Amino acid sequence: DWREAELEATRYSTDKEAVDVKAPLIAICGRPNVGKSTLFNRLTGSRRSIVGDEPGITRDRIYGEIEWAGRDVRVVDTGGVVPDDEALIPSEIFRQAQVALGEADAIVMVVDGRTELVAPDIELARLLLRGGKPVFLAVNKMDSVELLAGAENFRSLGFRNVLPVSAEHGTGVGDLLDEVFSALPVETVAEEPTEVMLTAEDEMEEDEDGPAPVRKLRTHGEYEQAETKIAIIGRPNVGKSTLLNALTGTKRAIVSPIAGTTRDAVDEVVERSGHSFRFVDTAGIRRKGKTKLMAEKLSVIMARKHLEAADVSLLLIDAVEGVTALDANIGGYAHESGRSVIIVVNKWDAVTTGRTDGKAPADKKVYEEQVRDALKYLDYAPLLFISAAEGKGVDQVFKKVELVARERRKRVSTGQMNRFLERVDFQRASVPMSKRVKIYYMTQAAVAPPTFVLFTDKDVKLHFSFERFLANQIRDSFGFIGSPIWFKVRARN
Ligand code: GDP
Ligand code: GDP
Repeated sequence: DWREAELEATRYSTDKEAVDVKAPLIAICGRPNVGKSTLFNRLTGSRRSIVGDEPGITRDRIYGEIEWAGRDVRVVDTGGVVPDDEALIPSEIFRQAQVALGEADAIVMVVDGRTELVAPDIELARLLLRGGKPVFLAVNKMDSVELLAGAENFRSLGFRNVLPVSAEHGTGVGDLLDEVFSALPVETVAEEPTEVMLTAEDEMEEDEDGPAPVRKLRTHGEYEQAETKIAIIGRPNVGKSTLLNALTGTKRAIVSPIAGTTRDAVDEVVERSGHSFRFVDTAGIRRKGKTKLMAEKLSVIMARKHLEAADVSLLLIDAVEGVTALDANIGGYAHESGRSVIIVVNKWDAVTTGRTDGKAPADKKVYEEQVRDALKYLDYAPLLFISAAEGKGVDQVFKKVELVARERRKRVSTGQMNRFLERVDFQRASVPMSKRVKIYYMTQAAVAPPTFVLFTDKDVKLHFSFERFLANQIRDSFGFIGSPIWFKVRARN
């Protein structure tokens, strides 16, 4: 098995795309013959492509690209090249749902509007709706106006967004895209992200009556979050597998592995005090490289892959060894990914009692200072001391995950934001005069992670210290515990 892992590691590392921030991904799901590939072709036109070697993606999925409203988006037909069986086997449904839930930013489920619903439709819908991602139901083959009303019959599947389309004729497809695009996360907007948030009109209005309401983009976080997806990351031997076992093995926990047919993606879900905690790719967490170097390389690759699929990351540190360069490296990826981070110092038992190296027992306060010093950019991340092997502190991990998951989805109104701005003493920011900007107003444009748009007098990238100062001020007032805060600047000439 390690050989496969090594091969995989090489494949990832030679593929520079593997870890780049990519265009948002829309997944099309549905049983055979409902019209998925017709819809896919309608969306992508001739730009259909079969992509084989993307990381974490098996060969049988068909990818394409589309541009809509100035944004580039990728589309995947999760039906891929599945044989045209009338009866969709359950494992296939799982696989489709898993691909969609794991990789996509939004999911379009297609049903045939001219036929009755069958069990696979219902099963697939149920899985997709539970996944916590923006989901849309396209009722296909609604070729004429008379048929349109029939789409309402499919509301029983439970989707909030039900759209009649005719993939063959193209009707309704634009509306579908509008809906889907409005749900895509802002963090994956390639350039000029503020373009989609404000129209020229909005800005003009604001001159008369103060700040105009910003047209809201819906992001993942605003959909009912059915569960929190968690990535356990860290270098080899920090105790990732041990922690995973401790978290998923607790007596009160119901663990349900969501098995796909792909070897490398098994999530485990723990239901606990009314919350679902999904540990992403638990097979990957247990995977080890054979040589030390390979294991280290693999740990970075896995961290980046797992971060992509997560809301919250647990960055594990080995208490005995302290923060190493590799820890800092992995922590950096977590920070940049926009995921919430909890720093978990594991093996605390080994430095407090029965030390074999003759040193004095570690002190939490001193230890935390050292960790914080080595991971400065993660100053917003809560820090926990645990012993995964002894099962100590595991409860705290769940509680903190729940807290930071909630914090990252918080929204501050523009009114609150303006009152906040009036209170901030910007003179206190240690920023060179030439780098100062005047903020006319600011608004939270997105959640998960909280993203603020600043309307300023100059179109400049914020000075690092200024950004940090402002982020700290925002945290003092509003929290956002565990989540990075992102800023976008927009000059208001
Ligand atoms: P898939 O198996 O879900 O990918 O389905 P296909 O895209 O291969 O479509 C299955 C059948 O439905 C084909 O014969 C299509 O021509 C037909 N079809 C797809 N979209 C429409 C539509 O909007 N209206 C009608 N009348 N037929 C459609
Ligand atoms: P991974 O490579 O990050 O998945 O690490 P493992 O979970 O395989 O753990 C690596 C080693 O650290 C194993 O020998 C574990 O028994 C040990 N270990 C894990 N957690 C703890 C802990 O809380 N205390 C101590 N003393 N050892 C631990």
